[in-house]
Amino acid sequence: MSLREGAFGNATNLVCRECGTEVPLGPDYACPECFGPLEVAYAFPAITREEIEAGPANIWRYKALLPVPDDIEQSPNTEPGYTRLLEANNLAKALGLSKVWVKDDSTNPTNSFKDRVVACALSAARELDAKVFACPSTGNLANAVAAAGARAGIRTVVFIPSNLEQPKQVNSAIFTDSLIAVDGNYDDVNKLAQEIAAEEEGWAFVNVNVRPFYAEGSKTLGYEIAEQLGWRLPDQIVIPVASGSQLTKVDKAFQELIKLGLVEEKPYRIFGAQATGCNPVSTAFKAGVDAIRPVKPDTIAKSLAIGNPADGIYVLDIARRTAGAVEEVTDDEIRDGIVLLARTEGIFTETAGGTTVAVTKKLAEAGVLDPSLETVVINTGHGLKTLDAVSDKVGPRATIKASYAAFEAANIS
Ligand SMILES: *Cc1c(COP(=O)(O)O)cnc(C)c1O
Ligand SMILES: [Zn+2]
Repeated sequence: MSLREGAFGNATNLVCRECGTEVPLGPDYACPECFGPLEVAYAFPAITREEIEAGPANIWRYKALLPVPDDIEQSPNTEPGYTRLLEANNLAKALGLSKVWVKDDSTNPTNSFKDRVVACALSAARELDAKVFACPSTGNLANAVAAAGARAGIRTVVFIPSNLEQPKQVNSAIFTDSLIAVDGNYDDVNKLAQEIAAEEEGWAFVNVNVRPFYAEGSKTLGYEIAEQLGWRLPDQIVIPVASGSQLTKVDKAFQELIKLGLVEEKPYRIFGAQATGCNPVSTAFKAGVDAIRPVKPDTIAKSLAIGNPADGIYVLDIARRTAGAVEEVTDDEIRDGIVLLARTEGIFTETAGGTTVAVTKKLAEAGVLDPSLETVVINTGHGLKTLDAVSDKVGPRATIKASYAAFEAANIS
């Protein structure tokens, strides 16, 4: 396989997170020496805030820091990112915190943060000349892959657990004729994808064989939060954890911004959010151990339902290094979290966001979050995809006849 010059921008090679072995850029994800995960390494040029600010209002403003070619904007893609960072004063008050910001990624093209990672994976698939753009997914990833593939004109095949919420199924099937429902949970679907990737030529599975490139897309959340805060790092940040990739990449982004001199170095604390029905990382954090014991997920937060999280151990490292924590909440608390964010800030989040808000509340009440410091909460997805989670909780307060007398009798004002 021959790569064109600059196919991966300023990326230089892949490097093993465990043993440091270097591997040339390509469709590889496991270290040939120790099977550890590979990640992208770079030789960054000097870059200024002004250069970034002059870029487009999407993730490509940070293209110099991503494994994508300099002409990335010429290739059709969904142009995700640069979502709003909202000052959430009502939520802050409800939580007893002095300052809260919500990074609202529900407004991405397919309504979750997955559009960011998929845009980077699409670029890699294109540069590697893949014939099929594919993924195993807990839902949102399949939506993002199917849409990005449609726009790019590349064949897509997306695999999901067959028990997935119907809106997430439709949100994929609308973009692709090849939505494949697999009998089993996400971890079964992921195993199947690994087998197909090993057997079939030319399949780019975004979160399997091009995972190192895919994962870099999550860094843009960290870059944007810092830029939108006026080029500074937040004090505390709460991030949902499925595979753990997003959380580790937000930390990587903060570290890169410090090294590049784009923000001042300062302490920040990173908190992970899980559902009690799928809590392998939270369990390990609380037990004070380094190993993650896989679980069988059973939670309404299906987008977080990864029982054997690939980056779980790195989440533990980061939570411990930054004086953060990994906490979990029940399905009822998740539902309450969804309603709380909606009623305080007018944002309808999915179950993953309900998890993040509920964990923020739990950490605030326990005094783990410092109320005098500012806190960023990442909302990673949209509530319209998980309507069932709250359809029993909210609804008409009253059903009345179309008369003023009926309105008066219902005692509404
Ligand atoms: C995938 C997903 C996550 C978690 O992503 P990881 O990087 O696998 O930890 C969080 N929220 C939503 C809505 C997702 O779809
Ligand atoms: Zn290695």
